[in-house]
Amino acid sequence: MAGTLKEHDFEFMDVALEEARIAMAEDEVPVGAAIVYDGEVIAADHNRVRASCSALAHGEMLVLAAAAKKLGDWRLNGCTLYATKELCPMCAGACVMSRVSRVVFAVGDCAMGCLGGGPFDFSSVPMFNHRFPAVGGVRSDECLVLLREFFATKRIPRKDCSEGITSDQVKMLHKRLDKSANI
Ligand SMILES: [Zn+2]
Repeated sequence: MAGTLKEHDFEFMDVALEEARIAMAEDEVPVGAAIVYDGEVIAADHNRVRASCSALAHGEMLVLAAAAKKLGDWRLNGCTLYATKELCPMCAGACVMSRVSRVVFAVGDCAMGCLGGGPFDFSSVPMFNHRFPAVGGVRSDECLVLLREFFATKRIPRKDCSEGITSDQVKMLHKRLDKSANI
């Protein structure tokens, strides 16, 4: 469901953006996330898929888990999640399951985005037991620069737990970023 911008969204996105920069330095896809509760950042993390060799280690998943632990409650009512990229099916689904109150993201993702910028919008499925406002485009230029820079430097193949990324895949990713930039 389309949300509206609130005061401080820009600043809180800065926390997520800083995390994305750390991910970049760690050679992870540069996506960062933060959770704000009661005007305070209670969790901030970034993509750690490569380091932890787990597709589950998206920054958004990590901050959802950290925030629940901190609050001592898996229900994250009153929490806003900030992410530098539109959430994938896993993370958008996790927001539904965690009952997050609001999501703010930067870059839309026309392929995998599940908050209205891509093929699905998990924030407002009538049959789901939780819906929340989602707003995109906050500081998207800065976050997009990081993603572009990251994929521009990708080379192939890798000899680690990631399968490596082919030049065709890189081309496809750039196309996807171009398309997403216009969301
Ligand atoms: Zn995700």
